[in-house]
Amino acid sequence: MSRYDYDLFVIGGGSGGVRAARIAAGHGAKVAVAEESRLGGTCVIRGCVPKKLLSYAAHFHEDFEDARNYGWTVGEVSFDWPTLIANKDKEIDRLNGIYKKLLIGSKVDLLEAHAVLADPHTVEVGGKRVTAKQILVAVGGWPERPGIPGIEHSITSNEAFHLPTLPVEVVIVGGGYIAVEFAGIFNGLGAKVTQLYRGEQILRGFDDDVRHFLAAEMGKKGIGIRTKTEASRIEKAGNRLTLHLNDGSQLTCDAVMYATGRRPKSDGMGLVELGVAVKPDGAIIVDADSRTNVANIHAIGDCTNRVNLTPVAIREGHAYADTVFGNRPWQVDHRTIASAVFSHPPAGVVGLSEAEARKGGHELDIYKADFKPLKHTISGRDERTLMKMVVDRKSQVVLGAHMVGMDAPEIIQALAIAVKMGATKAQFDAAIAVHPTAAEEFVTMRTPVAG
Ligand code: NDP
Repeated sequence: MSRYDYDLFVIGGGSGGVRAARIAAGHGAKVAVAEESRLGGTCVIRGCVPKKLLSYAAHFHEDFEDARNYGWTVGEVSFDWPTLIANKDKEIDRLNGIYKKLLIGSKVDLLEAHAVLADPHTVEVGGKRVTAKQILVAVGGWPERPGIPGIEHSITSNEAFHLPTLPVEVVIVGGGYIAVEFAGIFNGLGAKVTQLYRGEQILRGFDDDVRHFLAAEMGKKGIGIRTKTEASRIEKAGNRLTLHLNDGSQLTCDAVMYATGRRPKSDGMGLVELGVAVKPDGAIIVDADSRTNVANIHAIGDCTNRVNLTPVAIREGHAYADTVFGNRPWQVDHRTIASAVFSHPPAGVVGLSEAEARKGGHELDIYKADFKPLKHTISGRDERTLMKMVVDRKSQVVLGAHMVGMDAPEIIQALAIAVKMGATKAQFDAAIAVHPTAAEEFVTMRTPVAG
């Protein structure tokens, strides 16, 4: 009989924590999960999933317009935000229920309360003290906003999913994934959107061609992107908000959404008090096995601020459970992880940007295709697609593939297999095109554009 109540106590019932709990239970461990909010975490409850549902909704706007030149007579269309939100909530409830069922089916105990570590083997949760041999922290992150005067009048992505009405004019602050995605959502649903970004160009860290191309496409759709722009304060008068900007101008709107990054949620759970090493930004410091400096405490997912993507957290949780409870040690490879921005149009990337590859000392062949997708030859929409391949000149290995345009996330997911395998340009080219598709450009680009 173990001297602990559980073999594993997982704090946080998001995608990573739930995966770790289920796999560990499958290896025979006695497992409990504490979740203070709803099972599913950021991705399911207030992130990827509801965001993508809203993004689908926003796409219909253009679909109705595009249908006309294809011969369809589209009657008067209108959009009802409460219907969308209610249906989205229903789907989130369903997924939340599935997560619960999966845990219970795996014989994992669920404690629906905030958990605080009292010592390396004791958790205080819902007024009880529970002991465990191993602790896994998988508490995710939370939106962070700068502390400017009037910031309390703004919302974050958390609240954006529950607004009672669709704002008429929205200002979005930030230039990362969330800002860009919500700019497309609100714009597509009919709001007037201005996006403020403090730097030179949105999506810092992405390939420069992707950044410029996407910003131009977003501009064509009516999103007003203002770079090198920051707000110094926000004032509220009645239902209207006024942002005072660094160039001395003012901007008035119905809603201000801050998407200025997320902070690991490691505060207020006793970690620092136990001596667990945490960075100033709140990230729990872990090694390649997700182990903290306290031997029986591990951490995975966004609270470690490594690669903040759901599938990465899931992989980290799985590796942890196999390693610690399955006698099957393995580590997550954090290199060459594909990701997508569900902007309008979307972007998909895998591997190195041109700038990263050059910085890494590679001599490069760069291939690019910039074209009007077949669909828009008839629809009349002025939307273009960009594809780019970053190829190491000497070895001809494809180091990176980048795309902005319809279906980019789906296409990049498939390409990620080849890039991760280290395929060469010749191996890409050996695959005969599927015609007519946009994706075929990735196997038919013949001449490098720059060296
Ligand atoms: P990001 O870190 O991606 O972007 C934050 C943005 O806010 C940057 O443009 C940053 O500017 C700007 N910013 C930061 N601080 C300030 C400030 N004080 N004033 C003005 N601007 C500021 O964060 P997100 O919130 O967009 O997303 C968080 C993470 O969630 C992402 O990094 C990603 O890993 C994940 N995510 C993934 C998605 C996907 O896979 N599709 C979707 C959504 C989120 P600067 O560039 O100058 O630093």
